[in-house]
Amino acid sequence: TERTYIMIKPDGVQRGYVGEIIARFERKGNVLKGLKTFQCPKAVAEEHYQDLSEKPFFGDLVEYICSGPVVCMVWEGPGVVKSARKMIGATNPLESEPGTIRGDLGAFYALVGRNVIHGSDSNESAEREIALWFGGDDEL
Ligand code: ATP
Ligand code: MG
Repeated sequence: TERTYIMIKPDGVQRGYVGEIIARFERKGNVLKGLKTFQCPKAVAEEHYQDLSEKPFFGDLVEYICSGPVVCMVWEGPGVVKSARKMIGATNPLESEPGTIRGDLGAFYALVGRNVIHGSDSNESAEREIALWFGGDDEL
């Protein structure tokens, strides 16, 4: 089987979507392998989004991820990297399909930078991100 890194971003936690999001991943048949709340230090957010470091919105993105607690998760299941991205929906919540997490829950702020949830975009990213967020004491 395969695993992926899923993170409920500060807006998703603050708006009370943690239970709803976990329920969707369980209903899909995935298995929860890691779970924690976390106040993200700037260095971790910067490393997580290192591929976007040249983007004009990078500073705002890092600040937003560190603006309140996130919920970090590892989910396991057949094809979970791809199916999670499908369940999450398009980056901009205003463009994500109804039925997706961002499409259903993400449009409150109508901002691409406030889109409730993160999901790894490949197996390679998933393993890198799991090591980053769950390395150390609670290593998975
Ligand atoms: P994520 O990696 O968070 O799951 P994604 O893979 O759908 O999202 P990326 O292209 O990896 O999208 O962008 C990472 C995050 O950067 C987005 O989720 C969004 O919050 C933010 N972002 C992307 N594009 C913009 C933009 N044009 N303006 C502001 N923020 C943006
Ligand atoms: Mg991404």
